[in-house]
Amino acid sequence: MPMGRDEIFIDGSWVKPACGATLEVVNPSTGEIIGRIARGGSADVERAVSAARNAFEGAWGAMAALERGRLLSRLGLLILDRLEELAEIEAADTGKPMKLARNDIRVTARYFEYYGGAADKIHGDTIPFLPGYQVIVLREPRGVTGHIIPWNYPASMFGRTLGASLAAGNAAILKPAEEASLSCLRFTELTEEIGFPPGVVNVVTGLGEEAGAALSSHAGIDFLSFTGSPEVGTLVQMAAAKNHVPCVLELGGKSPQIVFADADQDRACEVIVGAIVQNAGQTCSAGSRVLIERAIYEPFMRRLADRMAAMRVGYPEQDLDSGPVINAVQRDRVMSFLERAAQDKVEVVAQGKIHPDASKAGYFVPPTLFGLVPREHELAREEVFGPVLAALPFDDEDDVLRLANGTDYGLIAGVWTRDGGRQMRMAKGIRAGQIYINGYGAGGGIELPFGGFRKSGHGREKGFEALKEYTVAKTVVIDHSN
Ligand code: NAD
Repeated sequence: MPMGRDEIFIDGSWVKPACGATLEVVNPSTGEIIGRIARGGSADVERAVSAARNAFEGAWGAMAALERGRLLSRLGLLILDRLEELAEIEAADTGKPMKLARNDIRVTARYFEYYGGAADKIHGDTIPFLPGYQVIVLREPRGVTGHIIPWNYPASMFGRTLGASLAAGNAAILKPAEEASLSCLRFTELTEEIGFPPGVVNVVTGLGEEAGAALSSHAGIDFLSFTGSPEVGTLVQMAAAKNHVPCVLELGGKSPQIVFADADQDRACEVIVGAIVQNAGQTCSAGSRVLIERAIYEPFMRRLADRMAAMRVGYPEQDLDSGPVINAVQRDRVMSFLERAAQDKVEVVAQGKIHPDASKAGYFVPPTLFGLVPREHELAREEVFGPVLAALPFDDEDDVLRLANGTDYGLIAGVWTRDGGRQMRMAKGIRAGQIYINGYGAGGGIELPFGGFRKSGHGREKGFEALKEYTVAKTVVIDHSN
């Protein structure tokens, strides 16, 4: 039975895309074609935007916040009901181990639970002003929101971006990544089952340069949420700027894990290796640099090497430490980093293993630890988006702050130390959207505001902070002096 569907979802109905064409769905664990999705384009985006506008100005806009919230909460429960089926879809589409796929589906459900509960708690303000005046600041939905998401965590991105937007009262158009759209399509069927009014959720699958570009350059949307690469994020922001459409951008990272000599080294080692191998390193907030205080560099590297060498990669049902990367392009990209590092004589300290039963046609790459990476080397500065960890020694707090802040990115950071004063100095000194002390939460914490500095993007998703992005303040000034 082929997976996916050759239709897109507009105004509450499944319809063929205007061009009638489809795209292949490839299983990254085997390289086999397992289904097809519709190739939506600008005419389809046009219809989706107008359906969303009608919903916003019609039934959805008129619905009480508590009813909106109930729909979202029920969607969360329905997703949990279908946990196993959804996890299997996600694992087949992305190659991730079943345990991670199940976790991603639980996270998706949790977003709808969280934002469902929040829908009737979004409120405005009053402001003391001149005598004789009453000032009320209304917090209103933006209107029609566009959402472009990547392939690494399609399920949880669906929950993150739509949960917040719909809770705030917007009507939405989602463009999933062409590499992994299946779970988003299934969630969309569940919105139908729950009974969201037509036009509230519209989903147009297709290529980035077609459906994605049509959405980001559409003058009829009021807000755009983009998660993906910095390169495409720049294009998207430029397209949106032409129509004065504001956007939130969640882009890449080169997040540091900073290990001081007084850290709990056992725990730090376990979490650091786990966080870079998870999802084959295809996590925007993967801790891809480990910065180690020079006094413990050698012993800590021995621990990291043992742990990295124990990592096992395979297909989803094996439930190993990670699966394949998403496609041949990504595999070749990651392998090209390893090849250039070999040419530059950067030392491979340890590598995990690809399980012998894994298909030779799957896109597997071995988790790899590099040691004594030169500070200016691309492994220390560029996002690999694969299971590749670069280790560098540092001398003191000033030195490590320079290193930590020394890339173009600023998404998250991990700091491992028992010294309370140092914990706070690091938290204040590092320019990143999230700082974890003695832990690392890549991908988790749906309640916690998340977003970047510099090339990692701007604006915040997750938590209540996201609700500020998806709403706008409107000030009402009443003169009641006469
Ligand atoms: P990508 O930028 O290639 O694609 C992301 C989305 O943009 C896809 O839906 C794609 O179809 C669409 N797209 C592509 N070209 C487009 C265009 N010209 N106009 C409009 N849309 C277009 O990114 P990717 O390869 O899918 O994802 C990997 C990147 O995403 C990494 O850099 C990673 O760090 C980043 N990422 C960031 C976060 C975060 O929250 N900060 C989360 C996940 C991934």
